[in-house]
Amino acid sequence: MEKGQITEMEKEAKIYVAGHRGMVGSAIVRALLKEGYQNIVTRTHKELNLCRQADVEDFFAQERPDYVFLAAAKVGGIMANQEALADFMYDNMTLEMNVIHEAWKCGCKKLLFLGSSCIYPRMAPQPMPESCLLTSELEKTNEAYALAKISGLKYCEFLNRQYGTDYISAMPTNLYGPNDNYHPLHSHVLPALIRRFHEAKVEGAGEVVCWGSGTPLREFLYVDDLADACLFLMNHYSGNETVNVGTGKELTIRELTELVAKVVGFTGEIKWDPTKPDGTPRKLLDVSKLAQLGWKYRVELEEGIRLSYEDFCNNPMRAER
Ligand code: GDP
Repeated sequence: MEKGQITEMEKEAKIYVAGHRGMVGSAIVRALLKEGYQNIVTRTHKELNLCRQADVEDFFAQERPDYVFLAAAKVGGIMANQEALADFMYDNMTLEMNVIHEAWKCGCKKLLFLGSSCIYPRMAPQPMPESCLLTSELEKTNEAYALAKISGLKYCEFLNRQYGTDYISAMPTNLYGPNDNYHPLHSHVLPALIRRFHEAKVEGAGEVVCWGSGTPLREFLYVDDLADACLFLMNHYSGNETVNVGTGKELTIRELTELVAKVVGFTGEIKWDPTKPDGTPRKLLDVSKLAQLGWKYRVELEEGIRLSYEDFCNNPMRAER
């Protein structure tokens, strides 16, 4: 469908943001409020367990949202993914199927499903275009999560093809920002580094140990930019093919550690633990499709790390999660 033919969400429309307590969902709620959307429906995990089909069915039958942003997921870094393969697959697959299916059953006008750049093959061409999906094997360290995310995006596509729905999906690169998870073992690399360098500075430690070789290349997107892209896609994109969301810029994990050390103010030595996994060697998204649609990120990495570090310092309980 051409950009001009797509109707934007009405300001008074009822919008359900699944996963509003998480880093991505909370950023989407911030972006919606900023754009003047007021009728936002949310449920905490305690109020609604998205893995329970009957509860999700009741919720949708009662609320009947016009639009859904599916940002709920069980997420974690390279170690968490490796240690809890079965949980990552079951929780993500179940909640995705429940939410997408019930949204369709109650006639939801449009749904945006959020995936991850790990859906693409380990040895995909770099930067990775949307078209390389399912062309070869996945990276083993996050295979379970990737398979669940691929199922979610394919289910949206199949509903569109079988029933003519307008359910779209976006694949963001590695994300970071306010509300991140700073668990020392289970988090992603950026929040893990913010916490480790901060603690080393406070304790006056002379060195910090980071994982792997430092050579893998990664791309990072500030979560408020992702939320902006999600609203943009909801209002301006329709189609079965997913859309990559990133900056198109990458750096090595070693360069990232140096940047985080600089922002945090840690001046000691950085060492490497080769017993920890490197994961996929390179993971850069081809963002030309999104650029053609007319969207570009705003927050540069150093500024984003500065904002995230402020959020971490202002919320000491972040380190408790
Ligand atoms: P990935 O992008 O799916 O591989 O997930 P992560 O964000 O967990 O890891 C990215 C890269 O950062 C990998 O090469 C890790 O080995 C490296 N890394 C270095 N130090 C850390 C750390 O303290 N925590 C995590 N999660 N990764 C680290």
